[in-house]
Amino acid sequence: MSVEDKTVRSIAHAVQTGRTTATAVLEAHLERIEARDSELGCFQDVRAETARAMARELDERIAKGARPGPLAGVPIAIKDNIMVAGEPATCGSKILEHFISPYESTATQRLREADAILLGRTRCDEFAMGSSTEHCAFGPVRNPWDTDRVPGGSSGGSAAAVAADLVPCALGSDTGGSIRQPAAFCGITGVKPTGGRVSRWGLVSFAPSMDQIGPFTRDAADAALVLNVLSGEDPRDDTSAASPPPDCIKDDEAPLSGLRIGIPAEHISDDNNPDVNAAVSQAAEVYASLGCDVKSVNLSTTELGIACYYVLGPAEASSNLARFDGIRYGRRADLPDASLEALYEASRTEGLGAEAKRRIMLGTWVLSAGYYDAYYRRALQVRRLIHDEYVRIFNEVDLLLGPTVPAPAFKFGSHADPLSMYLCDTYTVTANIAGICGMSMPAGTTTVDGSTLPIGVQLQGPVLGENKMLRAAHHFQKATSYHELRP
Ligand code: GLN
Repeated sequence: MSVEDKTVRSIAHAVQTGRTTATAVLEAHLERIEARDSELGCFQDVRAETARAMARELDERIAKGARPGPLAGVPIAIKDNIMVAGEPATCGSKILEHFISPYESTATQRLREADAILLGRTRCDEFAMGSSTEHCAFGPVRNPWDTDRVPGGSSGGSAAAVAADLVPCALGSDTGGSIRQPAAFCGITGVKPTGGRVSRWGLVSFAPSMDQIGPFTRDAADAALVLNVLSGEDPRDDTSAASPPPDCIKDDEAPLSGLRIGIPAEHISDDNNPDVNAAVSQAAEVYASLGCDVKSVNLSTTELGIACYYVLGPAEASSNLARFDGIRYGRRADLPDASLEALYEASRTEGLGAEAKRRIMLGTWVLSAGYYDAYYRRALQVRRLIHDEYVRIFNEVDLLLGPTVPAPAFKFGSHADPLSMYLCDTYTVTANIAGICGMSMPAGTTTVDGSTLPIGVQLQGPVLGENKMLRAAHHFQKATSYHELRP
């Protein structure tokens, strides 16, 4: 079996109807990983043996006449900050290098119940902090379109793995853009669900008020199918939403006519790469030709997003990462006679990387007495403004369309200044701050220094608006072929 261009739907259908087996599908993908991943570095850990056991067990059940689940035999890679019981979960950090998950995330449990095959763990920026996967303690991931460039981050391993056809689907997490931005850089589809749509149980917390698990796939119809499986209320996550899961997309999808799409004027900046702005305009024309009512709107809080996010995110991170102290979790400094305080300090100093430390310090500072009111409380007030503006705008339009990232994938080392890296998140962070849904889909290419690189556009929808958003993406993909381009 060839793995190229295989969708989640086509694999599941072939396994369900007995045209192939889960084992054959898995072996083809393992071969592909073997051939390609030493160059790309997407995987921290390929779980070949446990995946083979899962595939064998499913094939035996099917042979006995059982009805397989909706993701039958689909190999899925998991970002290394989502726990699978008994498997390592490093979160891209030395401090968790030898940590083994004692329990299973709800998201991966749901994939198992749908008969997907969990095939391995993908590299990410340390604790999901970053936009390039350069902050992974175990080595960078390379962009399959140009291996001198980053795949985006923090879920770079998951995105690159799908783009290079190593897997048809991978899970990522998105706190400020970590699914949408790497999807844009790698030319694939990535969905950040509404806050609460997918249970966060078993996702290692970075900033829980904004963290969401979501899928990377080749197209929106696959994303809808996977999201349908992942979604739902979970008693172990109090913030999970009691709402019916998004529909799977059917072939005879109703047309889009009458859908109101707004393009935030603040997102079409002269600072964007011109081909990025052009891709948004062309996507707008496609939607207009599909009968949508497309107009320019204002999202004036856009400029507040980065400042707000980089106060709230580090504040929550400083609290969540306090547990990695060398006593309860992970790596402990080898200082048998040290005081507890010195042991904490040494374990954290040697176990955590520069970006994680920067965020812990920033977060501790904005929460400290004397600065809390000036920074953290004010960021919460800005959060309310951003939220309220989205509420207002989604009374006026159904969806928003704009760039995912201001520019295409950059070269390794070119954003060494943290602030310049943070600015890559300008168009993505506000969705997490407000808790709405968003996604990136391929919508063009650009040529930089002789390399062809993909461009993504972002769709944003209201809270629990995934049906509308995924449908709009599906119709775009029916009308265009950007999602079929390969590195
Ligand atoms: N790039 C953003 C950050 O560094 C987003 C990360 C994420 O979504 N996990 O925080």
